[in-house]
Amino acid sequence: MNPRQNQQNEAWIARVRQPVQEGLLLSAHTTWRIGGPARWLLQPTTPVELQQLLLSWPTGLPRLLLGGGSNLLVDDNGFDGVVLDLTRHMNRITLLPAASAEEDGVLLQAEAGAGTRALAHFARSHGLTGLEFLGGIPGSVGGALRMNAGAYGGEVRDGLLECTLLDGEGNPHTLPLQQLGMGYRSTRIPPDWIFLSGRFRLQRGDPDAIRERMRHLNRQRRQSQPLAFPSAGSTFKNPPEGPKAWQWIEAAGLRGAWSGQAQVSEKHCNFLVNRGGASSRDVRLLIDRIRERVCQAGGGVLALEIGIVAPSGLVADDAPNNHLSSHFQAS
Ligand SMILES: Cc1cc2nc3c(=O)[nH]c(=O)nc-3n(C[C@H](O)[C@H](O)[C@H](O)COP(=O)(O)OP(=O)(O)OC[C@H]3O[C@@H](n4cnc5c(N)ncnc54)[C@H](O)[C@@H]3O)c2cc1C
Repeated sequence: MNPRQNQQNEAWIARVRQPVQEGLLLSAHTTWRIGGPARWLLQPTTPVELQQLLLSWPTGLPRLLLGGGSNLLVDDNGFDGVVLDLTRHMNRITLLPAASAEEDGVLLQAEAGAGTRALAHFARSHGLTGLEFLGGIPGSVGGALRMNAGAYGGEVRDGLLECTLLDGEGNPHTLPLQQLGMGYRSTRIPPDWIFLSGRFRLQRGDPDAIRERMRHLNRQRRQSQPLAFPSAGSTFKNPPEGPKAWQWIEAAGLRGAWSGQAQVSEKHCNFLVNRGGASSRDVRLLIDRIRERVCQAGGGVLALEIGIVAPSGLVADDAPNNHLSSHFQAS
C-alpha cells in the first residue's frame, strides 16, 4: 500500500464512529488457530451502521467479512485492511408471523452474525425440522449462506426462502433463493456483497425426533472427523464426479503426512489439522503437496473449499475445476 493511500485509510478509520480494534490476532478468531494481526476490526451494530461504512469506504482499502473463521486460512502476516465482524451485534434469530393463514410451515429469520449451531438449536427448541444438519457445522449464518454449507444430505439452500444483502457500495437487496445461485459450497453472489440475514421456511416436527437426529449426526461427526485438533473442516471440495477428495488424498499416500506442525489427519484425509503452532505456510505447503500428488495420481487439481486470506485479501483459487465457486473470484 502506498503511503498516500495509507494516510487516507488512517484518516477514514479515525472518522469512523464506532469502536475500532487494532492489531487483533486473527489466530484467536479462526478454528485453525492460525493467522496474524488484522490492521483494524470493526463490529457494526446495525445494518444501517454497516451501510454507512460501505458508502464511505476508501477505494483500495481491503475488507474481509469474518464469520466464525471456520473456513479460512489467514496468513501469518495477518490482514492489512478492515475485518468486518457481524457476530458480536448482528446475531438475532426470530420467528416471523406467517403472511397468510394458508401459508405452509413456519418462517424464521436469522441475522448473518448468528451462530449456525445456535440457529439449529433455536429451530429444535421451537419444534421445527429442516436445520438439524447445521447442529455440527461451526461458524456463522453469514458464512453458511456464503458457502451454502451442508452435511449429511442437507444444505442451507434447502429451507431457505430469501436473503437480505448489501452490495459492495452499500445498497440493500432482498434476493429470493433462485437468484442466489447456490451450488456445492458456493453461491454466485459477488464476493464484495455482504449477507445481512436469511429467511427460512421450516416445517413443524416432533421435538424428540429432532433432538435425536441432531445427536445422531453429531455422533457420526465425532466418529469420522478429527475434532480434537484445530482445522477448517474439509480443505478441498469433492471433484464433480469420481472419488471424493479424501479418497484421492489417501490414494496419493498422504494420510498422516506432515508439513511443519500441520498434518493430514489420520482420521479424515480431507482435514488438515494444526498439531500445535502450525503456521499458514505449513498448511499452504501441505495443500500444494496434496495437489501435486493427487494430480500425479490422475485426480486433477483439487479445488479449495477453504478461503485463503493474504494480507491484501482473499486469494483466488486457481483450480480449473473450481468454476462453480464465486467465493474466490476477484472483485
Ligand atoms: C470441524 C469443522 C467441521 C466442518 N464441517 C462442515 C460441514 O459439515 N459442512 C460444511 O459445509 N462446512 C463445514 N465446515 C466448514 C465451515 O464451518 C463452514 O464453511 C461454515 O459455514 C463457514 O462459516 P463461518 O462463519 O465460519 O465463515 P468464515 O470462515 O468466517 O468465512 C467463510 C467465507 O464466508 C464469507 N462470509 C462470512 N460471513 C459473511 C457475510 N455475512 N456475508 C458475506 N460473506 C461472508 C467470508 O468472507 C469467507 O469468504 C467445518 C469446519 C470445521 C472447523
